[in-house]
Amino acid sequence: MSEPIIADIGIIGAGPAGYSAAVYAARAGYGVALWAGPEPGGQLMTTNEVENYLGFAEGIKGPDLMEQSRKQAERLGAKIVWDTITGIEKKDGGFVLQAEKSPGSVKAVVIATGAVAKWLGTESETKFRGRGISACATCDGFFFKGKKVAVIGAGDVAMEDTNTLTQYAESIVVFVRGDENKMKASKIMYERAKNHPKVKFYFNTEVDEFLGDTMIKSVRVKNNATGEKQEIPLDGVFIAIGHKPNTDPFRELVECDEGGYIKVKGTETSVPGVFAAGDVADKVYRQAITSAGTGCMAALDAKRWLEHLGH
Ligand SMILES: Cc1cc2nc3c(=O)[nH]c(=O)nc-3n(C[C@H](O)[C@H](O)[C@H](O)COP(=O)(O)OP(=O)(O)OC[C@H]3O[C@@H](n4cnc5c(N)ncnc54)[C@H](O)[C@@H]3O)c2cc1C
Repeated sequence: MSEPIIADIGIIGAGPAGYSAAVYAARAGYGVALWAGPEPGGQLMTTNEVENYLGFAEGIKGPDLMEQSRKQAERLGAKIVWDTITGIEKKDGGFVLQAEKSPGSVKAVVIATGAVAKWLGTESETKFRGRGISACATCDGFFFKGKKVAVIGAGDVAMEDTNTLTQYAESIVVFVRGDENKMKASKIMYERAKNHPKVKFYFNTEVDEFLGDTMIKSVRVKNNATGEKQEIPLDGVFIAIGHKPNTDPFRELVECDEGGYIKVKGTETSVPGVFAAGDVADKVYRQAITSAGTGCMAALDAKRWLEHLGH
């Protein structure tokens, strides 16, 4: 293992939140090191068009947006470290960031490690991800104007996605594995979705197979109660079965909620000097621009913290 990288502010994560924090912290004159982790660029590396990030009149490709963000952070002086953080330890009034090859020693930390959508995990789902299958209705609903789509899930996020999709799609079917009594969504969210004329629920229903050629064309579903299978033509499917925040290395240090999201007040975590930004602390908005916004806030909060310590 090499000597630790010394920085004022250590940022963990290279998505919109991490890069935004790096831009603000570096521009404020602090020494910044950003650990990019297993997926440099974050979730937007897996998407094609980003149409709702402010400032790009014609939209921008996710990987292009993230490459520009990295270059902006580097131009302002942030050092990008191509390694993954495995833990954080409090030491001598600062923090040791543990990593396989390139650990760090920093005075303040911004955790911006994002979250990953949970997928069903079937082969045909993987094949059609980005080809009609999405995990973000707010991001991709717009591309399904006048189309037939499905939502898979029974919780509030699935109902929220269903309601979002009613603005665009011609019709929405919602596949729920259990029966109606086992809906996890709040009553008000469920009823709003159920009572919409474009929406139809299929209970006791699991997707057996996603079908199509280059794009998804239909799904084969199975009724869990009767075993009966049927094929339903569709243009898109939104998987809304939850997200997992990337907090495993930090759970012993900072307080997290029951879903594993870091608990924050603003961007402050339960540990003074450790801040969190982006999807890792946000189960509600989960957008690139909100992540960049909280990344900015975390950097400003870290700056205030360091000033308070006299740095
Ligand atoms: C397919 C898809 C399409 C989307 N489309 C849009 C869209 O059109 N518009 C929109 O606004 N939003 C969109 N989103 C949502 C958006 O991508 C996220 O809200 C945003 O990327 C969250 O940013 P983040 O910085 O919090 O985390 P992420 O983008 O998830 O980045 C997390 C970063 O943390 C790093 N990391 C994780 N663990 C560690 C570790 N232990 N050590 C070091 N680094 C670590 C990862 O390598 C990664 O770089 C989309 C999401 C998906 C999946």
